Amino acid sequence: MRIDKWLSNTGYGSRKEVKQLLKSGAVTLNGEVVKDAKTQADPVHDNVMVHGEEAVYKEFIYLMMNKPQGVISATEDSRHETVIDLLYMEDQNFEPFPVGRLDIDTEGLLILTNDGQLSHSLLSPKKHVPKTYYAKINGSIPEDAFEDFKEGVILDDGYKTKPALLKILTNDDKESEIELTITEGKFHQVKRMFEAIGRKVIFLKRIQMGQLKLDESLELGMYRELAEEELSLLS
Ligand code: URA
Repeated sequence: MRIDKWLSNTGYGSRKEVKQLLKSGAVTLNGEVVKDAKTQADPVHDNVMVHGEEAVYKEFIYLMMNKPQGVISATEDSRHETVIDLLYMEDQNFEPFPVGRLDIDTEGLLILTNDGQLSHSLLSPKKHVPKTYYAKINGSIPEDAFEDFKEGVILDDGYKTKPALLKILTNDDKESEIELTITEGKFHQVKRMFEAIGRKVIFLKRIQMGQLKLDESLELGMYRELAEEELSLLS
């Protein structure tokens, strides 16, 4: 791999910035100063240092974000801010993308990575990765809702949902709170499932994906890298 890619992917700035860094003589490859951005380096066998500090190469980045409302789960959008815009440049350099989508008005757990394989396995319909949502619902939860969701409800397009687990947290004529675990990812699925039983979701937040729980200490719009143990929960 080219040394400028290595440095850029390790958080030392854009390719242009990295070129300057190389020119300044701050970078060594196996102890020798390198100035040519095209120099090849091997992530497994070679040692790269910047100002005497090792620049450990990593290919993949795995981030957990507490997505705020008003932001799109996409890499680009002409009208709205995207979740990628919320990342520091050094993380954007890895070219991560969101694993699946949350609606613009949905908050909560979003994984961002540049690891296509992990993303694919989390989203594959065959894997049935459970996703748990916390929601506020207008009105009370109908008596049959638990059974209806367990059996599957018919959405507005005629699709019958797979079994889902409903946990009622509070139940009130005005507003109720629930957790719903689904194993699919149809468009607006949670909102449409409640529409199917005559209710409206007024607030939605994803709190868990597979075994991975949202770190509640992350403020809205904040993110952090996944710890190794957390990553192993996803694979
Ligand atoms: N279900 C929805 O309705 N919206 C989301 O963002 C996620 C699941």
